[in-house]
Amino acid sequence: MPLFDALSFRKTVYASGGCHSDALRPGIILSEDEHELLLDCVRCGFCLASCPAFAQTLDEADSPRGRLHLLRALFEGRINLTETLLKHFDVCLACRACQAVCPSGVRYGFLIELVRARLERMGYGVTRHSPLLRMLIKWVFPYRRRFNAFVSFVEMVRKIGLVKLASQLADNIAFTDRLRKWLQVEGMLPRERQRNAFYDGRSVIPPKGKRRMRVGFLLGCASDVLLKSVNEASVKVLAHLGCEVVIPNGQTCCGAIAMHVGFEEDAKRFARRNIEVFEKLGLDAIVTNAAGCGAAMKEYSQWLRDDELFSERAFKFSSLVRDFSELVCELPFSETMKPLLMRVTYDDPCHLLHAQGIREQPRKLIAAIPSIEFVELEESDICCGGAGIYGLLFSENSMWLLERKLERIRESGADVVVTANIGCQLQLQYGVRCYGLNVKVMHIAELLALSYEIGR
Ligand code: SF4
Ligand code: SF4
Repeated sequence: MPLFDALSFRKTVYASGGCHSDALRPGIILSEDEHELLLDCVRCGFCLASCPAFAQTLDEADSPRGRLHLLRALFEGRINLTETLLKHFDVCLACRACQAVCPSGVRYGFLIELVRARLERMGYGVTRHSPLLRMLIKWVFPYRRRFNAFVSFVEMVRKIGLVKLASQLADNIAFTDRLRKWLQVEGMLPRERQRNAFYDGRSVIPPKGKRRMRVGFLLGCASDVLLKSVNEASVKVLAHLGCEVVIPNGQTCCGAIAMHVGFEEDAKRFARRNIEVFEKLGLDAIVTNAAGCGAAMKEYSQWLRDDELFSERAFKFSSLVRDFSELVCELPFSETMKPLLMRVTYDDPCHLLHAQGIREQPRKLIAAIPSIEFVELEESDICCGGAGIYGLLFSENSMWLLERKLERIRESGADVVVTANIGCQLQLQYGVRCYGLNVKVMHIAELLALSYEIGR
């Protein structure tokens, strides 16, 4: 028996099912076809060094190889589904760093989403750790009006000093977990936000000069509510470079967060809605400035592969999806750039780098700005701990990664850290605020808008 089996895995089996100490129920949660996918893993271990969850515990069961092995044992009925076992699946960030380095092409991202959806149906979804977050993810975050109302409420509570008071109480007396969670959600929200965007009330933004492309633009939930400035900069840059930008009113959440936590049917419902809304617009591309949304929309064809009405339409939709930096690189982006005197580094969003394979385009755009000093960020390929709602569900694990990231940013000596995903931007801004780092966090669209002198 290989060392891996003998030491770590066996330990996990005994801890999570073999001794039945916390056994929930036997769990065969995959079909035969899905089980086949697990067999692609040859247990080489190349993925271990790239896994941020494994880096924290050094427990094989928290590694991609370990989880795949546990899944296989679970499917084959050799172990039971236990709370201990569930936790090993829960703490996976679904960052897909393992998938990007796997020489056997194991579809880890697909498998972890599949498992989460099955567990959710069985009542063991990852959101069971927090009823509050479950409610927010299901009923608030994907709906821009409700999300906006929720954030306005939190801002009002903050303004009248209740957040400060609650934080002081939390430091001094035993506080309920639910209230701590509220404080944590509040802490992640930006301190100031732009309320109106120049495109409000208009669904088509004309290009500057000759029209090169007609593109649809996904507003996104977090971007539209929390960082409107990023959407505004994205639309202005696209129009500046010759795109006619269409922002259809009926669009909805991309479904990424729902899929991420196992709300599979919700995610598919959002996907169908977006397909219906965008497909009639005669577009050359569908653009998003959020890596998580882009990765999800590129996978609609996979999500809806068994849907008779939508499978073909989903395929067409997915083939049009472009990340903002991916599309800008196809346009004459360097012609009108003005110099910016700053030292800039770039942090790769997991769902851009690992899920979409986009690494060079953002670097190319930054480096093209005259006078900018671009420095590579050590460990830029390791998750910042944001990972959708991971930071809210597992704050200790998330903070461990965030601190590590901030240390690398500090070492880079950069004045500005650029990212290409709203979730990462919020997480980095939160970190910079908490640790008092003198660094500005920007989305790549904001940096480009600054260089084109079209920002606010
Ligand atoms: S790199 Fe791929 S094949 Fe190797 S252990 Fe990891 S998942 Fe399995
Ligand atoms: S998705 Fe990320 S956290 Fe999960 S196993 Fe792969 S590398 Fe580790």
